Amino acid sequence: MVHTSYIEISRSAYKNNIKFIKSQVGSHVTISSVVKGNAYGHGIENAVKIAEGTGIRHFSTFSTDEAIRVKDASTKKSEIMIMGMVENENLSYLIDNEISFYVFEMDRLQAAIHTSKVLGKKAKIHVEVETGFHRTGFEWEERNALADTIQKNKENLQLCGLCTHYAGAESIANYVRIQEQIKVYHEFKQWFHEKGLYFDKYHTACSAASLSYPETIMDMVRIGIAQYGFWPSQETYMLKFKQLAPNMKNPLKRLISWKSHVMSVKKVKIGDFIGYGNSYMASRNMTIALVPIGYCHGFSRNLSNLGKVLIQGKILPVVGTVTMNAISVDVTDLKSVTKGDEVVIIGRQRRNEITVASFGESVQQVNYELLTRLPHDIPRKIIS
Ligand SMILES: *Cc1c(COP(=O)(O)O)cnc(C)c1O
Repeated sequence: MVHTSYIEISRSAYKNNIKFIKSQVGSHVTISSVVKGNAYGHGIENAVKIAEGTGIRHFSTFSTDEAIRVKDASTKKSEIMIMGMVENENLSYLIDNEISFYVFEMDRLQAAIHTSKVLGKKAKIHVEVETGFHRTGFEWEERNALADTIQKNKENLQLCGLCTHYAGAESIANYVRIQEQIKVYHEFKQWFHEKGLYFDKYHTACSAASLSYPETIMDMVRIGIAQYGFWPSQETYMLKFKQLAPNMKNPLKRLISWKSHVMSVKKVKIGDFIGYGNSYMASRNMTIALVPIGYCHGFSRNLSNLGKVLIQGKILPVVGTVTMNAISVDVTDLKSVTKGDEVVIIGRQRRNEITVASFGESVQQVNYELLTRLPHDIPRKIIS
């Protein structure tokens, strides 16, 4: 092994999660696997491979570069949808390759129509409407101009979807705002129908909306975090928890495990300081294991004297400051520890587990951020 740590990604956990999500949204609903942010840190190529193996045939990205990676990784001719950034200069590539994309302003709509005419091929678009998220989306006031433009250029456009995104479906604090968004979305939908404009798919729900607001499910759901085995928030889990009774077992399984090895072992005497400065003084004669992961690998410096790892199935504390490339772990209570012993930073070892959430709680990062910040150069490997 040339790397100091590696990340394992579990295929069976993914299968389990998709099965659960299907049970929640219904088997007739298309699941679009959201793979933006390097598939929430899992690696786009890994995610596409595992997902296609589980029958997923629809992927969502934020941008063109990610869409190209999905296309290259896909062996099943899956559909690809870009929900965010597209440069006009990318449009001919997208239209040529039948990659669909969100349209949320006139400028992009016009550019899509123009490029479609040049290529003699329809642009596959998803019309995003503003319902209250206030990020992107056509405003209610723009509806006439929008419908006119679409109608005049119908032969250049495939209306793949009518969509919107909710402003925080993972928190009950946003309940009223979400209800209003659902209402506005239906007003748009109704209005388009009155104009004779119909879309292939109506889609609005992310993981949290799919799990907490069943009325948002429609024809397709855009599932990010849940497929990777995480609840969008504690609240979303709590809401489901009662429905899952009496089973009470978490139906979602984390795909990711992050592992390293003990690099060296050292004895220190009571009163010795460990690592840089004086943040940790040995309160007894101790045995310290050096583990070759540090803040350059995403193990935050904020975890100095706070972080925990697993060695030989025991939860052990990080002592002293987290350095760029290494951490010191107190292994005094282990019978013996040797160079090369497995260290689990995230994941299970024997009877104990460190979840991404508990890893994150000590530095107050949510799962989303923590996952996507796992450095791309740590090798990922798919396990069964
Ligand atoms: C990220 C994203 C999703 C997926 O969100 P999760 O909470 O990870 O399920 C869905 N739709 C849009 C528009 C997004 O940007």
